[in-house]
Amino acid sequence: MDEFEIMLIVILIIIGPSIIHGLNMLFWFIIPRKCERCLEVKFNVQKVPVGYYRVGAPGWRGTKKYFYERKCADCRKGIGPDRKFELLQQEKKQREKEKVLSEKQAKIEKKCLNDVRFYSKNEKIELIYNEKKDKAITIKNKYLYVKVTVFPLNNKSQDYSFVTNFSNILVGDYVAFRIQYNNEWAYGIVKKVMLCSINDVPYPLEMTSLILKVYR
Ligand SMILES: [Zn+2]
Repeated sequence: MDEFEIMLIVILIIIGPSIIHGLNMLFWFIIPRKCERCLEVKFNVQKVPVGYYRVGAPGWRGTKKYFYERKCADCRKGIGPDRKFELLQQEKKQREKEKVLSEKQAKIEKKCLNDVRFYSKNEKIELIYNEKKDKAITIKNKYLYVKVTVFPLNNKSQDYSFVTNFSNILVGDYVAFRIQYNNEWAYGIVKKVMLCSINDVPYPLEMTSLILKVYR
């Protein structure tokens, strides 16, 4: 390579992007681009000003700074579908829905926690516990097990398996129970529902605690 070729490559590296940009600007109508309004890729997409703000010292009119948006011919005329707006509306609706759901969930959790605190002080609940323990239901000779993330009143949260009588239990339900090894009241949230035969239970049936209350 002689000096001339090296110089040519260096110049191309420096001004190459500008050339491509310039060609892009010149031939905007033959390169397909995504319209920012209808979100479709079209040939006639052009960058157009959609609004402005003023910059400058307070009290002075200042200079206009424009906001630009790539719009197709239809959207420039205002007859294209405004998918961007629709998407924003959808997102807004989704956020509101999630907010309502999480508020509802928080209410359920609070009720569950209050009950568990009450049961911890009220040992008569033990009777209900023993009574129900004998009635672990079977569906076609299978036991309904649930994996629960447990929130004990003092300790760290952990996953445990439980057996349940509530045939309509669902993932996401809050549940109250006694933990087998220390007999303390606790509550948790259902992570998984399983129908197990006596041979493939995640924990021996006689050593598994029973779900005592389901909150929904
Ligand atoms: Zn468009």
